[in-house]
Parts: sequence; C-alpha cells; structure tokens
Amino acid sequence: MNHVCNNVHAILRIILNNKNMDDSNCMANDTVYMDYQATTPCDRRVLERMLPYFCDDYGNPHSQHSLGVTANDAVENAREQIASLIGVRDRREIVFTSGATESNNLAIQGIARFYREKGNRIITTTIEHKCVLEAFGALSREGFDVVFVPVLSDGRIDLNAFRSSINDRAIFASVMWVNNEIGVCQPIEEIGKICRSHGVIFHSDAAQAVGKIEVDASHVDLMSISGHKIYGPKGVGALYVTMQPRIRLSPLLWGGGQERGMRSGTLATPLCVGLGAACEIAALEMAIEYERLVRLRKCFLEKVFDALPMVQLNGSSEHCIPGCINLSFEGIEGESIMMGMPEVCVSSGSACTSKSLEPSYVLRAINVKEDLSHSSIRFGIGRFTTMDDVEYAVEKLIKVVERLRSMSPLW
Ligand SMILES: *Cc1c(COP(=O)(O)O)cnc(C)c1O
Repeated sequence: MNHVCNNVHAILRIILNNKNMDDSNCMANDTVYMDYQATTPCDRRVLERMLPYFCDDYGNPHSQHSLGVTANDAVENAREQIASLIGVRDRREIVFTSGATESNNLAIQGIARFYREKGNRIITTTIEHKCVLEAFGALSREGFDVVFVPVLSDGRIDLNAFRSSINDRAIFASVMWVNNEIGVCQPIEEIGKICRSHGVIFHSDAAQAVGKIEVDASHVDLMSISGHKIYGPKGVGALYVTMQPRIRLSPLLWGGGQERGMRSGTLATPLCVGLGAACEIAALEMAIEYERLVRLRKCFLEKVFDALPMVQLNGSSEHCIPGCINLSFEGIEGESIMMGMPEVCVSSGSACTSKSLEPSYVLRAINVKEDLSHSSIRFGIGRFTTMDDVEYAVEKLIKVVERLRSMSPLW
C-alpha cells in the first residue's frame, strides 16, 4: 500500500481533506512527477526514522555524555548503512557532507591541492555535472592542467582518449558513474583499472547511480553520494574515501576536525540518519524496483514511438538506467512541450541549464544536432511512479506534441 498511488487514495484524500491519511508519496492533484533526476521525494519511512533526532535525541554526536552517545550511535549506524550499500567494509571510509556538490568539490579540490607536488594534470569528461566542471574550472584558473575527455555519440567515455589523457604529471581523474541528463552509465570498472595501472587517483560522482544500480566502491578511490537523489532528505550527502591505500585531502572547511579532519562541523544527526535509512531501503528494494522501472520505461517508450514519428532517444539505450528517458521531438521546442503539459513535471535539458535557454552541453557533447537538443525533454521515473502515471503522462505528451507540430512551420 505504501507505493500504491491510485485514484481511490487521491479522491479519498480530497474528500476527507486529511493530508496525513495517506502515507504514500503520491501527489495530491492531477500532477505527475517525472523529474526524479532533479530530486526525489523523501520516502516517508526515511522521515519517520529521522524525526526522533530533532527534538528528543538532539545531542551533539561529538559530545561524550549519554545524549551525545545516542546521537553518535545513530550516525555510526547510518555510516554503516551507506558503506554496506556500496560494498565498503570499513565505515570510517564514509565522510558525511551536505550533498553531492560538496562531496565532488571536496574530492576534486581536496586531492588536487593535497597532491599538487606530485603533478598538475587533472582529468574529467565533457558531460559531468556542473559542480564537477566548475570545480575543474576553478582549478584550471589556479594553474592546474585540466583535460576534458570527450564521450562517444552514445554518451560513453572515449576510452582511448581517456588513456592518452594520462601523462606522468597526472594526479587524478573524475568520471561520473551515471549521467543525470541522459542516464548513461560509464564503464567505471575499466576506467578504474586504467587509473590504477597508472597510479592515478580515481573519483566518481555516483549521485545518480547509488541506490539505482549495483555500485561497487572497489573500482574507485573516492565516490560522491547525494541524499535527495535516493529518496532521502535534501542537504546531506557522503563522500567515500578509501583508506587502502590511504588517500589524503586538503579540507574545504577548517574547524573541529570532525570526519577525520576532512569535513569539520557538527554532524546533522537527523540528516545522516535519513541518508542511512535511504541507503538501507535502496539495498532492500533496488533489484525489484529496477525491474519495475524497466517495465515502466518499456511501456512509456512503446506508447510514445507508436503514436509519434520523428522522436529520438538521446544517449545509449543499452548502457543506461531505466529511470532516465531523454527524448527529442523533431520540429518543436522542449520548452513549449513543457509549457503545454503543466500537469507533467519534466525538465527540458538539465534543470540547472534549462533557464539559460542554451542547448544542453551534454547533448552537444554527444553530437545531438542543435535543433534536436532544443527539442529535448527528460522524463525521470522512480519509486513512486505508477503505470497509471506513465499512461497519463504519455496521453498528455502525445496531445501536446501533435498540437505543437500541427502549428509548427518547421514541421
Ligand atoms: C544532483 C546531482 C549532483 C548535485 O547533488 P546535490 O546533492 O544536489 O548537491 C551532482 N552530480 C549529479 C550527477 C547529480 O545528479
């Protein structure tokens, strides 16, 4: 019943006007949320586990007294849950942060600054999240020698170009596990092997991968995780930092030396507990949920391709997560599609870049033609998406695409 969001619930809720009656995470009105890459709703089971740590067990986890110990136990339990999801044995290798943006910045700036005597070359790809690209940009202005490795037209990294980007001055590489715009998965194990054989430290932004697909930390040296992408709370994340061999980081924040000196500041116990709970639930449900999303994706794509000509799937259909579907609708603008179906929450391009009306740099990197990248929409499905939601969204989408095309001079 937790995950059932059917009309009966919605109608009952309206009749009874009682928001607490329904413990599922469905939306109150006729709006369908299809933007799971931008953020996910916090699972109510996660929220329940967090609540005691606001007003009852509020001790500072770094305090020695009983309230502190209670909070610390909860934080360490959460650390264990995160470690377990990504196959890490020693929970001390998990550092809490405020989210994947901070995790990425801590990893990238932290390694570059700590190891700057060893070399100045740092490597990433052209399709990383803005926070990774901008961190590399800042380091480039400090004099680091940045290489942006291209991807192929399916969105997967060009491994030959990656190999040749490594020279004897190379310190580290950062390659995302799963892309947030096109859902494409990178060959992390292979990249990890290349890095290891050249003594290059390897970081991966796994914000879109953890909790969705099997993620094995043994392929990387550092990994970024975000709470709100996996049905946890916003404002918390984690950075896995291997201790074998030990990786050192210059901290971004100086202070009390918490998190083994890498991230000072009092830990937000409720948020840490929430991230831990989110990881525990993901570990339990990921396999079944993955298969369910595969079926929803298949149904969505079949219905769209049956009804509409000249639709293109962007990115790899083979190496991708099922929950991210990026489509281009020839002849019309993505923005117009979005505005034409306000009942369906989607993104045109990436949420961060769509405001600028610039075509997405990710779509450009995979050689999507400029007009087709302007006509792209990202449909994100996840834990609380039902088959009804998919059917409803497709129905709205087909109507708006047909209407816009009938008015378009380009069509
Ligand atoms: C959302 C996201 C981020 C940023 O995470 P926050 O927790 O919101 O800071 C970084 N990388 C990827 C791939 C993301 O999807």
